[in-house]
Amino acid sequence: MNIVIFGAPGSGKGTQSEKLINEYSLHHISTGDVLREHIANGTEIGKVASAIIANGQLIPDNLMIDILADNLKNHPDAIEKGVIFDGFPRTIPQAEALNELLKKEYDSEIHAVVGLEVAEDELVRRMIERGKSSGRADDNLETIQKRLSVYHKQTQPLCEYYKNAGKYRPINGNGTVDEIFGEIKEQLKK
Ligand code: AMP
Repeated sequence: MNIVIFGAPGSGKGTQSEKLINEYSLHHISTGDVLREHIANGTEIGKVASAIIANGQLIPDNLMIDILADNLKNHPDAIEKGVIFDGFPRTIPQAEALNELLKKEYDSEIHAVVGLEVAEDELVRRMIERGKSSGRADDNLETIQKRLSVYHKQTQPLCEYYKNAGKYRPINGNGTVDEIFGEIKEQLKK
């Protein structure tokens, strides 16, 4: 099963992905983690990404799509295991490219989109809290506000996109980690 874990920054995508991997042994792709690794290693991609991330904006679609396609190519067992896409897609063109890639290269598709729905003030609270220890250049109030605004403009339309495709599974993302995970498992069983 290929799952997109979807939600605003701070909605718990990374945390719930970890739990899903442990439960279902899926291949995990976090595009944010891939980019942070590039930055840490000082690669060309890292150089492009670093200022964009610190400014709360999105990396260009073509670069993200290449990163994603490479990741799948480098993990030949990924589709067989099932993939959890965490932080990708973030725009409609990314979602369309993902559909096409899965279909053409792997004769596969996205089976479910788990949407973590969290109140805005809680998102801010969580990211500020995470910023105390994450060392992330984007977990500060100014950048958090930019990231939320980018999310509303560029990423949230995907909600409608996946609803129209009959794949969107809304989850109340305001409870405890285990409560939320329980709800995700219920939805995935369906
Ligand atoms: P995340 O760890 O998912 O919160 O991602 C951190 C940052 O990496 C985002 O704010 C974007 O700047 C960048 N990023 C991660 N995934 C994508 C994506 N699919 N498209 C564009 N930018 C991305």
